[in-house]
Amino acid sequence: MDVLLGSPCVEPFFSMIGRESVKSILTEALQSERKELLNGRSDHASCESVLARAKPLLERRGAKSLIPVVNATGVVVHTNLGRSCLAEEAAEAVLAVARRYNTLEFNLEEGKRGRRTDHVEWLLRRVTGAEAGLVVNNNAGAVLLSLAALCQGKEVIVSRGELVEIGGSFRIPDIMAFSGVRLVEVGATNRTHLRDYANAVTENTAALLKVHPSNFRMEGFVSSTPREELASLAKDRGLFFIEDLGSGMLIDYSRCGLLGEPTVRDCIEQGVHLVTFSGDKMLGGPQIGGVAGKKQLVDALRSYPLHRALRVDKMTLAAFEATLRLYLRGEEKRIPTVSMLFAESHSLQLRAEALLNTLRSSFPNGQFTLTEVDDAVGGGAFPAEKLPGWGVSVSMEDWGSAGRVQRLLRGAQPPVVAGARENETILHVRTLLPGDEERILEAFRFAETRALRGNE
Ligand SMILES: *Cc1c(COP(=O)(O)O)cnc(C)c1O
Repeated sequence: MDVLLGSPCVEPFFSMIGRESVKSILTEALQSERKELLNGRSDHASCESVLARAKPLLERRGAKSLIPVVNATGVVVHTNLGRSCLAEEAAEAVLAVARRYNTLEFNLEEGKRGRRTDHVEWLLRRVTGAEAGLVVNNNAGAVLLSLAALCQGKEVIVSRGELVEIGGSFRIPDIMAFSGVRLVEVGATNRTHLRDYANAVTENTAALLKVHPSNFRMEGFVSSTPREELASLAKDRGLFFIEDLGSGMLIDYSRCGLLGEPTVRDCIEQGVHLVTFSGDKMLGGPQIGGVAGKKQLVDALRSYPLHRALRVDKMTLAAFEATLRLYLRGEEKRIPTVSMLFAESHSLQLRAEALLNTLRSSFPNGQFTLTEVDDAVGGGAFPAEKLPGWGVSVSMEDWGSAGRVQRLLRGAQPPVVAGARENETILHVRTLLPGDEERILEAFRFAETRALRGNE
């Protein structure tokens, strides 16, 4: 161990992860080496062989793990790549409160304790038209809190067509069970009528719940009950009407061809008592769960003990406040998610042409072609709509298959996540941020060195 620890190739890792962690990784490598000797799979071991085994582990642990990447997939709200990128204003707001004491729970006027969600409540009311608003950790939390605080021990009626699963661990039936409400499913998978809801109401019913189907689309003989009808049923029978809207849109996106989906304000105007939505999907802000609706209900959520477990951090609140202020001022195009969704085909074409020319002049061994592509909203919103976009199809003579090209670009510094279309690698320009073209060039240079050395 002393010899290993004294090796010059180990030394740089001390400053990255500390001597003790280096030692524990070397111990691991020693043990595996010993095991291979004992079970006869190798016949000699040396410091070199142990170091060779430890090196990739040390490199992996020494490198930062949560790092920026270039998203060249054309999927705007890419859940695996962190969903939305914050507007400059929002990022600056985060930095400002992260470094210094702040007014998180302090009322400067009165010199006493304030409420952390007050920073955004008025803004939420303004942009949604609701009486009151609240934010929690994410939309899953907002649904959980709403059901637990308002309906625990009671029945909640949901259409069979809306008992959805969103990304692995969020399933409406499970979240309902977890929040202590009894799910009453009504209607059929493809059609649910007002009378289905009405017939299921009992004296134990607390609420009607509407859920956005998000990541799938039913077509053909389908119908769901309009919000207004559900609202009037809820009113007649003294029930709450709650909607999980998913990708909370604050503005109309019909100009980008994204039609037929309500904004949070539409839901409120159509009579929903409490709307929940994500902050980092089409809204373009930080990860939060927004709640907008009747004051009495929002107050009940705020004072419910589970709220404490779902509360948001100061950095999140700062980012969300700054994001909402952009909407309020009509400057939402400063939010990357919003501007990417509104990007026009012609400007994408020009951007793709510019990227093409730069790549061509820097990498004569590559084949680059301009191509029309299908981009996507992502984040479970508008799953069937394709946004017409532009990209550069890439094929590199010395790098190998499209799969290897993509792998090399992912492993580059900075990493580039490219799109794939059949046997092609495509750089979609819609999701590129300012400066990403330069980063792509850097990544190509990095990847080329590796490709020629034959390691990746
Ligand atoms: C995305 C989504 C959720 C989960 O939202 P998170 O903010 O990721 O917790 C819940 N419900 C619907 C309908 C969604 O689309």
